[in-house]
Amino acid sequence: MQKAERMKILVVEDDLISRKLLEKTVKGWGHDVITAENGMIAWELFKNEEIKFIIADWMMPEMDGIELCKKIRSLKKSGYIYFILLTGKDKKEDIVQGLEAGADDYVAKPFDVAELKVRIRAGERILNLERELVDKNEELSRLNERLESIARTDPLMEIGNRRAFYETIRKVHHRACRYMQSYGIVMCDIDYFKYYNDTYGHIEGDNLLKRVADAFKSVVRLSDDIFRWGGEEIVVIAQEQDASGTMLVAEKLREIIESLKIEHKTSQKGYLTISCGVAAYNESDKDNRWETILDRADKALYAAKESGRNRVMASDD
Ligand code: GH3
Ligand code: MG
Ligand code: MG
Ligand code: MG
Repeated sequence: MQKAERMKILVVEDDLISRKLLEKTVKGWGHDVITAENGMIAWELFKNEEIKFIIADWMMPEMDGIELCKKIRSLKKSGYIYFILLTGKDKKEDIVQGLEAGADDYVAKPFDVAELKVRIRAGERILNLERELVDKNEELSRLNERLESIARTDPLMEIGNRRAFYETIRKVHHRACRYMQSYGIVMCDIDYFKYYNDTYGHIEGDNLLKRVADAFKSVVRLSDDIFRWGGEEIVVIAQEQDASGTMLVAEKLREIIESLKIEHKTSQKGYLTISCGVAAYNESDKDNRWETILDRADKALYAAKESGRNRVMASDD
């Protein structure tokens, strides 16, 4: 059996002698006890303290045990409150009324010490189970959040993956259409990356991809999103940017990589460069789909490669 833990128990009883006896008995089992002489006082205490266990008399002035129980059950407080009703009444219908009010258990007065003890233990087990359940649920939500993030992240570059891109572009495009905002797409591709792999090995190639992604992160705005399109291609969504604004974003990306002067012996320049194609959403387009804009950015990238690499080209559509 699990070891009894110290709990904070609220004892509510109008009869002084009975209250003192309960207090002493329950304290003797190692619990912290707070007392109240009627439901009203108990209610005030309950609102201000972290109490998860209540033992309350039924018949009391001001507010009786039943009403106190109902009030507590109507509260949308998180966590379970275990409620034992103490009662001289033991007719079946009275017990039913007590349980209907939301009490978990009842103990007849004058209470039997051994009985009270096991009933408190039963309540404690319920509270422990509830605690475990809450902990498990919290752990599950944390794991879920982590899974969601993993499902949308490229593990090598630590930027969004293609799935994340699709989700984001749909939203961004929808917003742009609806609120007449603009956005642009930059399609980036590392120049002569195959040669880089061939020269420095695949592991170094992987490290380089991470470095490029980190450099990208350091220059784009937080509201802009970076995704691995595939291989050594990265796509950036520049929010609230028209074609010329998106060109500036792309130029910044190209510049940051060039400025790193990462050695690439088998490329034209001797250091690493990228090429970018740019296209922007234009509300006057007849064919107004994000796929078309992406396609234009891709064609512009191809043109940038054709005209010598290490450059940014805008879509001419
Ligand atoms: P270009 O200048 O025309 O873009 O030439 P390129 O060599 O960069 O282009 P190409 O598309 O021919 O080659 C891309 C290379 O990227 C080929 C592939 O091995 C490499 N690659 C794709 N994904 C990864 C990866 O995850 N890690 C590494 N190390 N290499 C990758
Ligand atoms: Mg009473
Ligand atoms: Mg490529
Ligand atoms: Mg390439």
